[in-house]
Amino acid sequence: MPELPEVETARRLIADLGLGRRIANVDDADTFVCRPHSPGELRAALTGRTLTAAHRRGKAMWCETSGLDGPDYGPTLGIHLGMSGRIVIVAANGWVAEGGDPPGRDAQPRKAVWDRFTLEFADGGRLSLFDKRRLGRIQLNPDIDALGPDAREVTQADFRALITKGTIAVKARLLDQSKIAGVGNLLADEVLWQAKVPPATPVSRLQRKDADRLYRALRSVLASAVAKGGAHTGDVIASRRPGGTCPRCGHEMVHGTVGGRSTWWCSREQAAWSPADR
Ligand SMILES: [Zn+2]
Repeated sequence: MPELPEVETARRLIADLGLGRRIANVDDADTFVCRPHSPGELRAALTGRTLTAAHRRGKAMWCETSGLDGPDYGPTLGIHLGMSGRIVIVAANGWVAEGGDPPGRDAQPRKAVWDRFTLEFADGGRLSLFDKRRLGRIQLNPDIDALGPDAREVTQADFRALITKGTIAVKARLLDQSKIAGVGNLLADEVLWQAKVPPATPVSRLQRKDADRLYRALRSVLASAVAKGGAHTGDVIASRRPGGTCPRCGHEMVHGTVGGRSTWWCSREQAAWSPADR
């Protein structure tokens, strides 16, 4: 599932290859992916414009668009990759580049219907949202105000305040996009493992040093995952399986449900904290 690093690769792809190309036509026929817009509404809003910038906050991405002529500007185009979406950009010469969720190992021949939304450029190329599971979303002028600060940009002081407020399990807090945006299930397990924090710990039990250790882990995990192209590249991810052992101490990894999500942690280094530990 795309988390911050996968969405960032898609954003960079659009920034590198999708900007400044005039939109000659738009395929917005998938009314589920393009809800609440009616067919033709996105075409009418975007045809004749260019994408001028690509932004991201957490897992949400949006593009600015140009005016139809002159210095004016158009609507913003929101693109959410959902559970498995990828951005595919075809250059004028036919070259294809992709970014977003890594292709599955059982890659099947592609069906045209999996391109859920397409901008056709006047130069003959195109930009598509390829989304087999159809859980992505295209929306004009999306509302991103409900999202917390981006996990790559949140300051240490803001992180400390956002992570420790209340009594919820720390993993659930990391996954709460309204507090910190961009961390999904794999990144959360990796960050907690790097920081040696038990995932079910109530955030009220986190001391300042714990919050700061989590912050440092978040920074380094995100830097590594963005550089390597996805959350699946984390050090503990391959050990998230029955019989898996901790890559650091060799003890057994254990599994449970925390914050409603499948969670793996080291039985020794992330054993539940007793009040006496704190
Ligand atoms: Zn361990």
